Amino acid sequence: MTEENKPKKEKVPRQKMLEQTPAERVKNFNEVPHGFTPETAMLEASRCLQCKKPKCMEGCPVEINIPQFLKLITEGKFIEAAWSIKQTNALPAVCGRVCPQEEQCEKVCVLAKKGEPVSIGYLERFVADIERTKGAVKKPDIPEKTGRKIAVVGAGPSGLTCAGDLAKMGHNVTIFEALHKSGGVLIYGIPEFRLPKAIVQTEVDYLKMLGVDIQHNMVIGKITQLDELFNSGYHAAFVGTGAGLPVFMKIPGENYLGVYSANEYLTRSNLMKAYLFPEYDTPVLRSPRVAVIGGGNVAMDSARTALRLGAQKVYLVYRRSHNEMPARRDEIHHAEQEGIDFRLLTNPVEILGNTDGFVRGMKCIKMELGEPDDSGRCRPIPIKGSEFELEVDTVIVAIGNGPNPLLLSATPDIKLNKWGNIEADPVTLATTKKGVYAGGDIVTGAATVIQAMGQGKIAARSIDKYLKS
Ligand SMILES: Cc1cc2nc3c(=O)[nH]c(=O)nc-3n(C[C@H](O)[C@H](O)[C@H](O)COP(=O)(O)OP(=O)(O)OC[C@H]3O[C@@H](n4cnc5c(N)ncnc54)[C@H](O)[C@@H]3O)c2cc1C
Repeated sequence: MTEENKPKKEKVPRQKMLEQTPAERVKNFNEVPHGFTPETAMLEASRCLQCKKPKCMEGCPVEINIPQFLKLITEGKFIEAAWSIKQTNALPAVCGRVCPQEEQCEKVCVLAKKGEPVSIGYLERFVADIERTKGAVKKPDIPEKTGRKIAVVGAGPSGLTCAGDLAKMGHNVTIFEALHKSGGVLIYGIPEFRLPKAIVQTEVDYLKMLGVDIQHNMVIGKITQLDELFNSGYHAAFVGTGAGLPVFMKIPGENYLGVYSANEYLTRSNLMKAYLFPEYDTPVLRSPRVAVIGGGNVAMDSARTALRLGAQKVYLVYRRSHNEMPARRDEIHHAEQEGIDFRLLTNPVEILGNTDGFVRGMKCIKMELGEPDDSGRCRPIPIKGSEFELEVDTVIVAIGNGPNPLLLSATPDIKLNKWGNIEADPVTLATTKKGVYAGGDIVTGAATVIQAMGQGKIAARSIDKYLKS
C-alpha cells in the first residue's frame, strides 16, 4: 500500500464496549461493560498515531508507556502489552476500569483535538483481563534482597503501589491493613458492577508474588504504633491510610434511622456482602424511596447500589448543575440510563422523621449558580422561598470524606494541615516524622485512584533514597 492510499488513522471511529442494557443490569450486580473483543481492541489501538513526543504519557501519574502498549496490541501481542504496563503499574485491571482517563491520558491525546481520543483506559482493561484469564501473570526480575524492612500502613491503591515498587527494589515490605481484605476503597467502596472484587484480588495476589507480606486486621495506632514497628526493626514506613472518615451536612434530622454515610452504606453492601443476599444476610435498609446527596463517584455508586438493592425510586440531590458534577462522565451517563432521578441545583435543609424515629422525607431548597468560588466552580446560592419536600425512606450522604484519624490521633509527631491531612513534603512525600513518608488521600484529601498510586510511586523512590543515604 502506498503512503497516499493508507487510510487516515483518525478516520477509524472510537470503538465502543458492549454492555448490559440498563433494564437488565439494574437487577444484578454484574459488571456493566463486557469489554473489547480482540478485533475491536486491535482496531481501537490502531488509531494511535505513535506520536514522537506522546502527550498521553505526560497525563499518566504512573508513567505507563502508552504508545508502546498500544503498538503491541495492534500486533496482537496482548499479553506482552499487559506486561509492558505492569513495568510501572501493578493495578492495570483496576485503572482500566476506574481511572478518570477523560481528565488524564485521553484528555491530552492528540486525537482529542480533532475528534475522539484513543480509548486508552478500555485497552488497558482489555489486556489486563487477557493476562488474568489466560493465567499469564508473570513475576518480574527482583534484585538481591537489601535486608531493609519497610512498613506500609494501609492496603489501598497508594499503599499497594508503594509496597510493590519497594519490593521490586529488593526491600522487605509488610503491609499492615486494618480491614480483613486488601484494596482500600477498591474493595469496600467501589461496587461490584464497576469493579469486580475478584479483579482487585488478582492484582493484590500479584503484589504477594513480588514478595509483599500483607497482615490484615492490623489497626496501626490501636493494636501497635509506628514507633513500636521502628523499635522492632523496621527502617522506614509509608502511611497510606486514606480518607475514610464520613462527612455529614450538619442539618437537622441527620440522626434519624435511615440516614447513612455513603461509606457505611457501600461498606455494608460491598465488603460485608449485602449485595449477595440471600447468601449473605447483612443488614442494610432496602427502602422503596432513597435520596443520595452529592455529585461525585461516591454518590453515583450509592445511587446505583440503592437501585440494585431494590429501591423503586432513587433521587440524586446535588446543589450545583450537571456541568460541575465531579463524577466520571461514564458513571453519570450510566446512572442516567438506569433511571436515577437527578435533582440538580437542589440542596437538603432538613431530614424529616416519623414518630418511630425513621426517615419519612427530606426538605430541600432550590439553588441558583453565582460567581465562581475558591474551587473555580460556580457558587450555589439558595433561592428564597423555594423549599419543597421529597418523600423518601432512606438518605445517603455522599458529600465527601475526611482523613482517616485512627493512626494520626496516636502519632502526634506527624504534622497535619488545617484539614487534618498529613503535611508531606511536596517533592519527597516525607512527613515530619523521621523515616515516615505518606501519600494518597491522607495527604491530598479525597482524590483519585491514579493520584494515590502516583504518590505511592514517588514515596517508594524517596524511601529507597532515604534507606541508601
Ligand atoms: C465509593 C467511591 C468511589 C470512588 N470511585 C472512584 C473512581 O471511579 N475513580 C477514581 O479514580 N477514584 C475513585 N474514588 C477515589 C479513590 O478510590 C481514592 O482516591 C483512593 O482509593 C485513595 O487511595 P488511598 O490508598 O489513599 O486510600 P484508601 O483506598 O482509602 O485505602 C486506605 C486503606 O488504609 C486502611 N487504613 C486506614 N487506617 C488504617 C490504620 N490505622 N491501620 C491500618 N490500615 C488503615 C484502610 O482500611 C484502607 O484499606 C472513589 C472513592 C469512593 C469512596
